[in-house]
Amino acid sequence: MGEVSYRPAWIEVDLGAIYYNIHQLQNRLPEGTEIFAVVKANGYGHGDVEVARTAIEAGASMLAVALLEEALHLREGGILAPILVLGWVDPKYVPIAVEHHITLTFFQKSWLEQVKQIPFKGELSLHLKVDTGMGRLGVTTKSELETLLEVCNDSRLHIAGAFTHFATADERGLAYYEHQQLNWIKLQQILQSYKNDLLLHTGNSAASMRFPNQMFDAVRFGISMYGLYPSPIVKEEKPINLHPAMSLHTKLIHVKQVPTGRSISYGATYTTDREEWIGTIPLGYADGLARQLTGMDVLIEGKRMPIVGKICMDQCMIRLDQSYPIGTQVTLIGKQFEEEITMDEIAARLETINYEIACMLSSRIPRHYLNSTR
Ligand SMILES: *Cc1c(COP(=O)(O)O)cnc(C)c1O
Repeated sequence: MGEVSYRPAWIEVDLGAIYYNIHQLQNRLPEGTEIFAVVKANGYGHGDVEVARTAIEAGASMLAVALLEEALHLREGGILAPILVLGWVDPKYVPIAVEHHITLTFFQKSWLEQVKQIPFKGELSLHLKVDTGMGRLGVTTKSELETLLEVCNDSRLHIAGAFTHFATADERGLAYYEHQQLNWIKLQQILQSYKNDLLLHTGNSAASMRFPNQMFDAVRFGISMYGLYPSPIVKEEKPINLHPAMSLHTKLIHVKQVPTGRSISYGATYTTDREEWIGTIPLGYADGLARQLTGMDVLIEGKRMPIVGKICMDQCMIRLDQSYPIGTQVTLIGKQFEEEITMDEIAARLETINYEIACMLSSRIPRHYLNSTR
C-alpha cells in the first residue's frame, strides 16, 4: 500500500500512548532493567518504524521482531538501535544479518554447523533460546545446552544473550510459570559459567508487569506497549495503567430511510421490522472486519449502534437511531464522548485475544499518527 489514501477510513495511532505505557513499565521495573520494544508484525499493526522510534525515545534500548525482513524494514526506516530476531532464520541469510547488525536467535546444533560453513566478514551477534516449557523453540536440556555451547567455538560468533519465553505468565494460576522459572534458573547457571556478561531476558508484557523483580537484565514488552492487557486477569489486576494507542474510524458514506420489511446485504439475512435509518460505512472483511462481527456496535456521536446484515468485502451497514449527514464520523474501536468500544470487546465477540484483533486490521487501512499525552 502506498502512502496516499483517498478513502474515509483510518486507524489512529497515538504515539503519546506508547510513550506513556513504556514510562509506566519503566517506573515499575528495577533501575537498569532494559526494555526490548517488540515491534513484530508491523508493530502489532500499529506501524513498526513509528512505534520503534517512539519506543526508543521513551527509553527502550532494543527492538525485537519475528522475522529477518521485519528487522531489515526497521533498518530501511533509519532505525539504528540493536534488533533481535526472535524467530528462526535460515542460516544462508546470516551474511545479511551481519551486514545490517541484526542479532539472531539460535538453539540448534545443525544451524550453528551450517553457519560455520558460510563465508562472511564481521561478527554475528546471537542470543540463545532456551525452552523452559513453551514447547516452541529452544534448547530444553542441560546436555543439549552444553553441546550447543561447544559448537559455538568460532571467533565470528558472538553470544550476546540468552532468553526464554513464558506460556502462562498472564494466567491466574502461577504453578506453570514458576516451573518455567525454575527450569530457567537451572540452565541459566550453566550459561553464566560459560560467559558471565550475557544479556538475560525472560519476561513478556504479562511477566514484566506482574513480576517486575524477577526480570533479569531485560524485558520484551509487546502487547502492553500498545496499551492492551495480555489477558482479562492482568487487566483486572492492572499492575500498570495503560493507554490504548490504536483506534479505528470511518465515516458514513450513505444514509437512507428504509421501509418495514426491506432486507440488507448479502443473503438478505437482516430484514427491517419497522421503518429504519440505515447507514453504510466503507469498511469490510478485506480490511480485517471479520464477518462474524455482524451485530457488533459502532459509535456515532457517542451512541452505540449495531452493524446489521452480512459484512461485505469493502463495506457494511449500520442501523442508525436517526438520520445523520454523509460524512458523520463512525468509530469502531476507541472512544466517543463517554462511550468506548475496546479491542477487548471485539476480541471477546470473536472468542480470541486482543493481539489478533490488532494484527488482523489490514494494511489497506491507512495509519494516522498523533501524539496526545506527551
Ligand atoms: C511476541 C513475543 C513477545 C511479546 O509478548 P507480549 O505478550 O506481546 O508482550 C515476547 N517474546 C517473544 C519470544 C515473543 O514472540
